[in-house]
Amino acid sequence: MAERKRLVVVGGGVTGLAAAHAALARARELRRDLAITVIEEMPRFGGNIVTARAGGFLLDGGADSWVASKPHASALAR
Ligand SMILES: Cc1cc2nc3c(=O)[nH]c(=O)nc-3n(C[C@H](O)[C@H](O)[C@H](O)COP(=O)(O)OP(=O)(O)OC[C@H]3O[C@@H](n4cnc5c(N)ncnc54)[C@H](O)[C@@H]3O)c2cc1C
Repeated sequence: MAERKRLVVVGGGVTGLAAAHAALARARELRRDLAITVIEEMPRFGGNIVTARAGGFLLDGGADSWVASKPHASALAR
């Protein structure tokens, strides 16, 4: 059996999670034994991207949400 490799990803935002996911997929493709650890300093994964529930609503923050520097959402709200 091939030697087990270890991969440590620092940061559990979308970049780190995507890197870990891609590495795992590639290891499976190559039939390699890979152990991945994702280190995240915050109490949850996701980084800038966050999903919250408030007042019966599901709120997505981060990618594709409201960015003040892009004026279209502000104009629509006004
Ligand atoms: C309101 C808003 C709207 C956005 N809209 C868009 C959009 O429409 N389209 C788009 O493409 N992008 C958008 N973005 C940007 C997008 O969210 C970010 O580009 C993306 O989430 C960045 O992901 P990341 O994993 O690189 O970084 P981050 O999300 O910053 O994640 C980094 C993670 O690493 C952790 N970390 C850092 N240092 C360490 C350490 N030393 N040890 C352990 N953990 C560590 C952090 O705690 C964090 O969880 C938006 C962002 C915001 C805030």
